Amino acid sequence: MEKINFKKKFGQNFLSDTNLLRAIVSDSLITPNDEVLEIGAGAGALTYELAKICKKLISFEIDKSLENILYEKLNSFNNVKLIFSDIMKIKTIDIDNYFEKNYKIVANLPYYITSPIIFKFLEESKKLNSMTIMVQKEVGEKMLSKPRSSNYGVLTVMVNHYADVKITRIVKRQMFTPAPKVDSCIVYLKLKHIAFDSGFKDFVQTAFSMRRKTLANNLSKLYDRQKIEKIFNALNIPLNARAEELEVKEFENLYSAFRQD
Ligand code: SAM
Repeated sequence: MEKINFKKKFGQNFLSDTNLLRAIVSDSLITPNDEVLEIGAGAGALTYELAKICKKLISFEIDKSLENILYEKLNSFNNVKLIFSDIMKIKTIDIDNYFEKNYKIVANLPYYITSPIIFKFLEESKKLNSMTIMVQKEVGEKMLSKPRSSNYGVLTVMVNHYADVKITRIVKRQMFTPAPKVDSCIVYLKLKHIAFDSGFKDFVQTAFSMRRKTLANNLSKLYDRQKIEKIFNALNIPLNARAEELEVKEFENLYSAFRQD
């Protein structure tokens, strides 16, 4: 990797350990029938291992200076399409249209846009089946945190609303070139195929908007007090409960009760 001028602004922390790369592919449960989207091909290390297994691979990379390295690394494959664009600027429906059927994302994500990428696909894709993604360890722990813990919040509730989530492995910072300041983990998200409802996201964001306030107080920005009291009573939620005390399922039930009332 001596030739590469790593660009921090694009979150370029590359992998090269073949055992780790194969372990990530194995965690993703990719089979020879699968169509795969990779976000951030980098120097193509993960792209190469994915291309060996999957039927079709579409790989996005923002950094055009990696073009020669990537074409050289992947020249033996005819199932890979490289697209040199910012993935955030491409409409999700246009990305979906690259695939004939449901597809899987496998990516060592650029950390500066981890959450926007996750939400873009969880909320907007009609064809996504699963995501196997490298994220900062802290972000993975946030996704799996339990009610009442300090890092339980909007990300936890939203991600678990859309998907079944698990951490498949921890990846030490030394495995990357250059090494970032923190450790990472691989998160596997299996989509439940829940339709996007912007109202639910607003509801959850409002619920957590002031962490020191009660849930009822925060929700009073959206609903009148009488309605809140009636619904909380009906669902046996104490009026002094805080957002971080509710399970994901309780958020879903509470939101549908407000919608139906
Ligand atoms: N897949 C490679 C690996 O595992 O070694 C590289 C992973 S590196 C953490 C993230 C890659 O995403 C970088 O190559 C970076 O240039 C690319 N990237 C950053 N922002 C992007 C964006 N908005 N759209 C597409 N690629 C992006």
